[in-house]
Amino acid sequence: MKAISVLGSTGSIGTQTLQLACEFPDRFKVVALTAGNNLDLLLEQILRHAPEAVALADGERVAELRQRLAALDPAHQPARLPELLGGLDGLCAVAAWPSADLVVTGIVGCAGLLPTLAAIRAGKDLALANKETLIAAGPVVLPELAQSGSRLLPADSEHSAIFQCLQGTPWADTARLSTGVPTPGLRRIQLTASGGAFRDWPAAELARATVADATSHPNWSMGRKITVDSASLMNKGLEVIEAHYLFGLDYDHIEIVIHPQSIIHSMVELADSSVLAQLGWPDMKLPLLYCLSWPGRLETPWRRLDLTQVGQLSFRAPEPAKYPCMALAYAAGRAGGTMPAVMNAANEQAVALFLEEQVHFLDIPRLIERVCDRHRADLTARPSLDDVLAIDAWARQAVHEAAAQLSARTPAALPA
Ligand code: NAD
Ligand code: MG
Repeated sequence: MKAISVLGSTGSIGTQTLQLACEFPDRFKVVALTAGNNLDLLLEQILRHAPEAVALADGERVAELRQRLAALDPAHQPARLPELLGGLDGLCAVAAWPSADLVVTGIVGCAGLLPTLAAIRAGKDLALANKETLIAAGPVVLPELAQSGSRLLPADSEHSAIFQCLQGTPWADTARLSTGVPTPGLRRIQLTASGGAFRDWPAAELARATVADATSHPNWSMGRKITVDSASLMNKGLEVIEAHYLFGLDYDHIEIVIHPQSIIHSMVELADSSVLAQLGWPDMKLPLLYCLSWPGRLETPWRRLDLTQVGQLSFRAPEPAKYPCMALAYAAGRAGGTMPAVMNAANEQAVALFLEEQVHFLDIPRLIERVCDRHRADLTARPSLDDVLAIDAWARQAVHEAAAQLSARTPAALPA
């Protein structure tokens, strides 16, 4: 029986992980949960899984959660009442919860950084969904992993595909993951991208893209931020940096290919030119289950892949002019140091402004570029954790300043 903690339990990754715990009750036991502020769903999860500890990011609402648990009819009380914690300290305490074997990181954004580090420092293995943490703080996270011996198992479907392809090769070894050292014999990574909500839109039409347009993904059902990132292809840009840190390849050997069917989840090319791919329906439960069951595999009754039903698998190169976020991410990755943290924070803030209809979809790359340009002269090559936290806060503020300039100069850039 593996004991798991789920950070971000009320989100898309979190709820799918908890479904797996329900599907495999003899294999996985949920010992700790954290959530942002969705109390209704969190309450249901506490009743269903009876965790030992629960933390709410919104510490102000812990008392309300305690009251609601106490007010439950005794017949509906959970088997045991969890320890209730709040705020960032509470999230970190739950991330390091002693009885957990594996921590699933389903918090969205750089907000996951400190809880992830708390889990690493406690020596926990991690199922990494919260890619922003690695992108913002790769130079901090990698040495911490080496020191604690925690293993970072990729839950992102593309990185899981690469990890799965590398199993069975002589270098299939999590000790090589996230060391910054190139995986021997791995020559090239091809990350597949669905193309997101706008894959069939001509570039010229993007000027009229609305929040509703950008948040409807053709293949995957995910949280709002990552769905917008998919539409801009920033998600793939972030994944290029994630792949760099996980598998140690330089940026010239990590490529993006648009694959609208999302059946091939990524490919690796090995030294002898052989290309390996992992295939499956687009469903995050599979990469999540692989993290939970690794190095084994569990039998599932899930719908089996039928390529005759899919019919065609197609591929094309992404158009750089349509997806400027891609080049911004490669440039930030190549610059290294604090630049990926700046780019990531600028993207998070720009996407938040877009979702609030404060800026246009096409303003997202404009804002990121301005903020990265401002940072170039101040780049720190080997940042500390404090450097990363400070630069993350600076970049968010810089986006607000740049957005104010954009709207002052071009009011037409704002949605009607
Ligand atoms: P989501 O928005 O559905 O869920 C986010 C979770 O984090 C929620 O539980 C929310 O309450 C919590 N949260 C939000 N802000 C927080 C804060 N400041 N502090 C603490 N908790 C907070 O997001 P998601 O789609 O599940 O994505 C989670 C992470 O997984 C992201 O990093 C995303 O890039 C990655 N990921 C998601 C998918 C997917 O299919 N959803 C696939 C690959 C990677
Ligand atoms: Mg992905």
